[in-house]
Amino acid sequence: MNLTDKDLTIFWHRRDLRADDNAGLFKALDESENVLPLFIFDSNILDELEDKDDQRVVFIHDYLSDLKEKYEKAGGSMLVKHGKPKEIWQQLTREYKIKAVYTNTDYEPYARERDEWVADFLKDQDVAFYCVKDQIIFEKDEVVKGDGDPYLVFTPYMKKWKGRFKEEDAAAFDSEGLLKDKLCKTDALPMLSLKDIGFERGETFFPPQDPDLETIKKYEDRRDIPSVKGTSRMSVHLRFGTVSIRTLTRIGRKHSEKWLNELIWRNFYMVVLWHFPHAATKALKPEYDNIPWRNDEKEFEAWCEGKTGYPIIDAGMRELNETGFMHNRVRMIVASFLVKHLLIDWRWGEAYFARKLLDYELASNNGGWQWAAGSGCDAAPYFRIFNPELQVDKYDSDYKYINKWVPEFETKDYPDRIVAHKPARERALETYKDALGYGDS
Ligand code: FAD
Repeated sequence: MNLTDKDLTIFWHRRDLRADDNAGLFKALDESENVLPLFIFDSNILDELEDKDDQRVVFIHDYLSDLKEKYEKAGGSMLVKHGKPKEIWQQLTREYKIKAVYTNTDYEPYARERDEWVADFLKDQDVAFYCVKDQIIFEKDEVVKGDGDPYLVFTPYMKKWKGRFKEEDAAAFDSEGLLKDKLCKTDALPMLSLKDIGFERGETFFPPQDPDLETIKKYEDRRDIPSVKGTSRMSVHLRFGTVSIRTLTRIGRKHSEKWLNELIWRNFYMVVLWHFPHAATKALKPEYDNIPWRNDEKEFEAWCEGKTGYPIIDAGMRELNETGFMHNRVRMIVASFLVKHLLIDWRWGEAYFARKLLDYELASNNGGWQWAAGSGCDAAPYFRIFNPELQVDKYDSDYKYINKWVPEFETKDYPDRIVAHKPARERALETYKDALGYGDS
């Protein structure tokens, strides 16, 4: 029997490139027969990428190829398409007899708009469409204040999150166990190559997929030292769903409360963006939109290239440019420097990170940048300005991280500082005070 003659249930993979512990896939397999997985290389997203060897596309392609193989070993396969999702769905509903479509909920503004369209379109075609919670432990209305309002400060959110949590919230779904029986039996379907979608393989820096328990156990003591392997490097795997948040939550609960808190930060930023979509382009706290950014292009270029004359900033930016990763402590320092010392609009920094980070994720990136600018979810006042020298004393006192990324530091080839710390700090404080209406009058 041809694939086109069968009644199919489609499982649409997006940010969940795994067959194990996948909530939406489990529901599709559990509730239906003839499940055919699908992935669409979305040209609306890919066409915006500037680098043809973008590591993220290669990452998706690699993991997708493995996933497709896994389905083929279980007797099924996967449809892999390239184009605009709306057009692909029009084509798929013409070509196949689709009974139902399952997918995992995606919370980003673009994804929400796309999925609303798909839901309406499928309804018109009499095809059921199910969105399932998979990416986070608690959705937008599951952890809210007593009066039903969303939290804007992390610590009370985290406490409520933990108070609400029950073991079953992180229980695994045995989606893999159902593959053999429930996948639609078919010969292997064609796979698109990187070239087919307009990309090529360059150098890649993908961290291992399995979380390292020793790192997580020692997380609290080592997480802030960028020269050691003190953090899990799970961010890209969470970004593309090559690991399950439920698996990681169980690990966090068992081995490190501090690390679990970081997973909760991720959940927090996702629901904040859900509740306040204006924050994707504007200050979360509107009064911060009054700040008259200097936006000096030469200074921005020096920051991007890691040539500010502040070695911790330069090390971070060079790590980012070379590998697509930057340690969290250093992300906070370079972000603070850009918005406070240079008074450059946080959106410029956010866009640069979005282009370069392998783990780029809108909610966490936006949350991190607005936190640095003072305009976002931060209980501390705007006048926290990191002193880049003191940060080195605290977190890279042996200069190991700096020497790795800035080998010419302390030679005549190293650039002079583009701004002096003290006057830049004072200028930032004055500018913020005036813009926010806390002047002397
Ligand atoms: P670990 O320290 O091992 O933490 C485990 C996981 O918890 C991470 O993988 C991540 O999913 C989550 N997490 C950790 N810290 C944060 C945080 N502050 N906010 C939200 N989630 C967190 N993270 C992204 O995933 N994508 C981004 O685009 C991103 N942009 C950022 C921009 C700025 C300016 C700042 C200050 C932070 C940003 N972060 C971002 C958060 C954080 O820096 C990274 O998640 C972390 O460095 C990833 O390394 P790891 O996996 O080893 O983290």
